[in-house]
Amino acid sequence: MADPIAIPAYIINEISELQKDNFEHNGQILWKGDELIYNHQKGQTMDDCRTCEINWHTHPSDYVNLYPDHPSAIDMKYIYKVTCKEATVGTHIVFTPKYIYAIRYNCKNAIREVIDFLTIQARIDTTFNALAKKCDRGSQEFRDKWINSLRRMGYTIDIFSYDESIVVRRKSPYNPSIPWPVLLIPLLYFVSKTFV
Ligand SMILES: [Zn+2]
Repeated sequence: MADPIAIPAYIINEISELQKDNFEHNGQILWKGDELIYNHQKGQTMDDCRTCEINWHTHPSDYVNLYPDHPSAIDMKYIYKVTCKEATVGTHIVFTPKYIYAIRYNCKNAIREVIDFLTIQARIDTTFNALAKKCDRGSQEFRDKWINSLRRMGYTIDIFSYDESIVVRRKSPYNPSIPWPVLLIPLLYFVSKTFV
């Protein structure tokens, strides 16, 4: 089992200062020997993670144009990609004005993965749009329903406040050991049902 990692408080404090800027920052948290260090850069485009344990981005406190206190649909697609499909990142952290979200997608098995690969983007969008029609995106009700739907989809989402210590699960190497022909059978079945 992967052991939990406590992120050093100074890293959280420094990123919480970056969150106060009126533009996004992103970066990585990685091992240097036995210690965790971090880096940061401006903007929304995240570098590929080769050796990092965690990567992260901030949501500035722009309540006029944005709803910063929850992860976006784009965030969730990205998190699926890096924590499951590519499995290069253990956990992605979103620093919003009110909360810190530590998120990863739990890859399950080859068949489920094929289904997710084909459908997860559409499911995320459908869920998000349906909720946005029903409730105010700035409300706690919206956040609760959005987070609960994502958990049902297969995400692990831990929500922290800025005065808590942030503990996440260590990255576990994920290598689908099932050969590709086996993956192709459900894929072809799905394609034939959907498009033929
Ligand atoms: Zn975001």
